[in-house]
Amino acid sequence: MSLRIVVCVKYVPDATGDRHFADDLTVDRDDVDGLLSELDEYAVEQALQIADDFDGDGDAEITVLTVGPEDAKDALRKALSMGADKAVHVEDDDLHGTDVIGTSLVLAKAIEKTGYDLVICGMASTDGTMGVLPAILAERLGVPQVTLLSDVSVEDGLVKGRRDGDTASELLEASLPAVVSVTDQSGEARYPSFKGIMAAKKKPVQSLDLEDLEIDADEVGLAGAWTAVGSAAERPARTAGTIVKDEGEGGKRLAEFLASQKFI
Ligand SMILES: Cc1cc2nc3c(=O)[nH]c(=O)nc-3n(C[C@H](O)[C@H](O)[C@H](O)COP(=O)(O)OP(=O)(O)OC[C@H]3O[C@@H](n4cnc5c(N)ncnc54)[C@H](O)[C@@H]3O)c2cc1C
Repeated sequence: MSLRIVVCVKYVPDATGDRHFADDLTVDRDDVDGLLSELDEYAVEQALQIADDFDGDGDAEITVLTVGPEDAKDALRKALSMGADKAVHVEDDDLHGTDVIGTSLVLAKAIEKTGYDLVICGMASTDGTMGVLPAILAERLGVPQVTLLSDVSVEDGLVKGRRDGDTASELLEASLPAVVSVTDQSGEARYPSFKGIMAAKKKPVQSLDLEDLEIDADEVGLAGAWTAVGSAAERPARTAGTIVKDEGEGGKRLAEFLASQKFI
């Protein structure tokens, strides 16, 4: 028996960097360092734990998959150094400007080509943050989706998990093959060990383009996008705050200031 897990990981601009839009209102990815989306590290961690638990029952294999530019290989290497077995990188110049509809198409085709029993996604990317990709992906693959899990396991051909809401926790399950997404409450992601980093250098990374996936260029890119960015403006620079000095009447002056701003 085997369990083929595909983890979708996104290479995102570093949120601590200075980020800008390009002239065509897409994110200027050349101008800022990128990294593996932190929220996808949780997905990799859950895949590793599921594979460990499955070990006695057969072979589990973890493939990490990204759709992204050349540098997105860095995100794959990080996931491989955490312990994933192999990686698939989809890259094509025609992907520039692809929205979530196009990205889900590319991921679905790559996942079908790779073969899968379970697809694990993060709860949202840290740049686009739409949080809808896992659901669209499940629809495209024609398999059940169990999203926003804070606990996940595989047992007897089922994926089981807990979704924590404001008023209740739901215990959910679906038959495999399935797509799940995991939250940042699912368990701390491990740091790659030195051994893991060295081993990752030798793990296979398969490169695919749109032709390999039999996707026409006009189904993706800005032309194929269902959404369009109308305008974008830099956030205005922060203005200096008001300092209320305490010269004996600090409390009174603070209250007056808060009242003038209608806070009290
Ligand atoms: C070169 C390039 C240019 C792009 N340009 C644009 C653009 O101009 N406008 C636009 O709207 N979108 C663009 N995209 C797509 C966009 O970056 C998102 O991947 C896509 O819209 C999904 O939205 P999200 O990140 O908010 O997904 P969410 O639904 O927030 O993501 C949830 C989960 O889906 C998985 N996931 C999401 N994206 C990827 C990915 N790329 N690879 C692997 N797993 C993924 C992760 O597991 C993630 O945690 C571009 C993508 C690429 C590669």
